[in-house]
Amino acid sequence: MTLDRFGRPLQDLRISVTDRCNFRCTYCMPKEIFGRDFEFMRRDELLSFEEIARVAAAFVRAGVRKLRITGGEPLLRKGIEDLIELLALIEGVEDLTLTTNGSLLARKARALRDAGLDRVTVSLDSMDDTAFMAMNDVGFPVKNVLDAIDAAAAAGLTPVKVNMVVKRGVNDSSVVDMARHFRGTGHIVRFIEYMDVGTTNGWRLDDVVSGKEIVNAVNSVFPLEPVDPNYLGEVAQRYRYVDGRGEIGVITSVTQPFCGECSRARISADGKLYTCLFATHGTDFRQLLRNGASDTELDTAITGVWSNREDRYSEIRTSQTIEIGRKVEMSYIGG
Ligand code: SAM
Repeated sequence: MTLDRFGRPLQDLRISVTDRCNFRCTYCMPKEIFGRDFEFMRRDELLSFEEIARVAAAFVRAGVRKLRITGGEPLLRKGIEDLIELLALIEGVEDLTLTTNGSLLARKARALRDAGLDRVTVSLDSMDDTAFMAMNDVGFPVKNVLDAIDAAAAAGLTPVKVNMVVKRGVNDSSVVDMARHFRGTGHIVRFIEYMDVGTTNGWRLDDVVSGKEIVNAVNSVFPLEPVDPNYLGEVAQRYRYVDGRGEIGVITSVTQPFCGECSRARISADGKLYTCLFATHGTDFRQLLRNGASDTELDTAITGVWSNREDRYSEIRTSQTIEIGRKVEMSYIGG
């Protein structure tokens, strides 16, 4: 087990496979910044699947048990199921999962499952087409995401989790509808407090709807009770419907930070290791790989970075920290 300076073990690795996305969610990749002129990474800058698998195996040797593929939109990466197949072969991986906007999932779900993917998380910010299209900013309809969720469930990528980022005055009126729609389906909605990731989304504290408000809203219509976490370091606080029709989660990174139990490392699509979602600097693993590093050298590099880790951004967030430095964008580091 590899521990950081606060005794937190390294257990999860999130791997971004592309910085590109076919959505322009206003809170993540606003069009004004990520427009036609925006320079995304070149193909040769991205880690190859073999490089990703090598790094992932090294992280598993260091104690990681859970791998999540993300982006950008990971299903835009050509042949993504080949990567899943490589990762599924790594001994010691207990949970292999992927976060997607669902736009390409209906046609890929079966192949992903066959390649060894355990489950998926699908992002969906509203049940209302007008609000959802305004948020994804490319006119993508709710129905297509719902179809993708059905396809994922039919392929056995379960339990499907559904991520909804809640922004005040934008989609908060959809919280109860979302709970209503997914109650009794076996899918788990996770309401996420809008976070100050990156610097391009113009984040303001006033836009955040707290987990508490969200739970109160759902509870007033469908009574809830808290449930214990599934494991140490679980990001979502869990609540179940008193009538037994499933559960929801809330991710309260802003109002109730959980840095104390954060066991997650992140690799950007160009191979930089970040030890916090709100980081400003990463460690270049692509260079190590392309300079012919041995497995032992990779292991030493991972242990070196993790054992010096002292990030706890959300716990020390103040109006100053929000503005200081250039935090990396969510689309770059992966959600
Ligand atoms: N494209 C994929 C998707 O849409 O799920 C994966 C990448 S996306 C960056 C991962 C997750 O991060 C999504 O659920 C997205 O809604 C969430 N996200 C992006 N920006 C966020 C922010 N500022 N606060 C909270 N969640 C955010």
